Amino acid sequence: MIKVAKFGGSSVANSAQLKKVKGIVEADSSRKIIVTSASGKENGEDHKITDLLYLCYEHKRYGMPIDMMFNLIQEKLLTIQRELSLDNTIDEDIQALYEALKGPIELDYLISRGEFLTGKLLSRYLGFRFIDAKEMIFFKYNGEFDYPKMVEAFQKLEPIETGVVIPGFYGSLPNGDIRLMTRGGSDITGSILANVAEAERYENWTDVSGILKADPRLVKQPKQIDIITYEELRELSYMGASVIHEEAVYPVKDKNIPIYILNTNEPENKGTIILNKVAIEKRQAITGIAGKQDFSILTVVKEHMSDEFGTIRKAIEVLESFHIKVEQISTAIDRFSLVVDSEQLKPVLYEVVAQIKEICQANQVNVSHELSLITVVSRFMKEKTGMSGRVFEALGKEKINISLISQTGDETNIIIAVSNQDYRKTIRTIYQEFEGAA
Ligand code: ASP
Repeated sequence: MIKVAKFGGSSVANSAQLKKVKGIVEADSSRKIIVTSASGKENGEDHKITDLLYLCYEHKRYGMPIDMMFNLIQEKLLTIQRELSLDNTIDEDIQALYEALKGPIELDYLISRGEFLTGKLLSRYLGFRFIDAKEMIFFKYNGEFDYPKMVEAFQKLEPIETGVVIPGFYGSLPNGDIRLMTRGGSDITGSILANVAEAERYENWTDVSGILKADPRLVKQPKQIDIITYEELRELSYMGASVIHEEAVYPVKDKNIPIYILNTNEPENKGTIILNKVAIEKRQAITGIAGKQDFSILTVVKEHMSDEFGTIRKAIEVLESFHIKVEQISTAIDRFSLVVDSEQLKPVLYEVVAQIKEICQANQVNVSHELSLITVVSRFMKEKTGMSGRVFEALGKEKINISLISQTGDETNIIIAVSNQDYRKTIRTIYQEFEGAA
């Protein structure tokens, strides 16, 4: 069976990285479909080709010279070409792009050249066939992917004996125009190809060894997550733990194709497997902890609320009319709390409070700011008792005050709100409780 392997920008940042990619691809002959990002940053000072292309576009828009940026792009790619002895692979394409930049040029087309040129270099280096993503990844005019058309295109490719390289991040519209995905979209290209190829697995090669149980900036050397479900990943990434583009999950989820998050710089590390369903496994306590700062809580107090209908709905509708999302809800008998992003709330705070008071006929609306939300995620929570007890006891011992608690009926995670000041300590304390030294 086929494996789809997607390599991120840092995996193709220079010739040394491309050599590692070749080693990885050659180590497993089932790695037949290779997707690449545009060449990314080699180090802190370096630039991503994609960012440079965006800069070219902006400079051109304001009638400013683009040569400085274009030279950086050219130099980065031609250095890879030279160092890997791939002479004359992309010279003509680069020249054509430079000429095209003299006239009107579509943003999506221009930006997609990063993946296109990097893909050409990689395919030649691997000895794999290059396939332009515009021949494989199809959009409808409404922005959705056209799966039947992609399956048909894929079937024409088969059998893939020698392997193919397909640039990530873009596809084409029905009229053939190039259409970009959102930033980081090469992850989605890989995932779509895994779907249409019914791949055995989708490998996402990056520069970290899998997903960690907590943010390494907050917890010292957090453990790696071995297996995580798509639902758990959604919960953790919503709170900021991002390793893969959120939309990359959908194309593989229904077919239960596992995603492997792997490290190009440490290929022997087993990484993290993201799965839909996990058959039999060793139970563990928590899968991971993540959090986000700067939330506000609006607590609406209304006598006899429990005898009425629609009070919570009315308050949410007020927030909706201000384009403020409700992040969490927690209710009691005659009061309820809504957690919202402070940045969204603060500019319209007084209007929001006044309207909620009026429309809900509330006695009071109390507001507190500077709060953090922290999620403790575990698919084992429903089979195990005492987990929330451990969370609260550990926080209590540390004298951390909890402002709000929330858990849905399927028990995938517990969410708590604490003050921003206690954010780091809360994550460390919970981590320590379940995983040891933090
Ligand atoms: N090169 C694009 C970006 O920087 C897409 C990707 O890397 O997935 O966002």
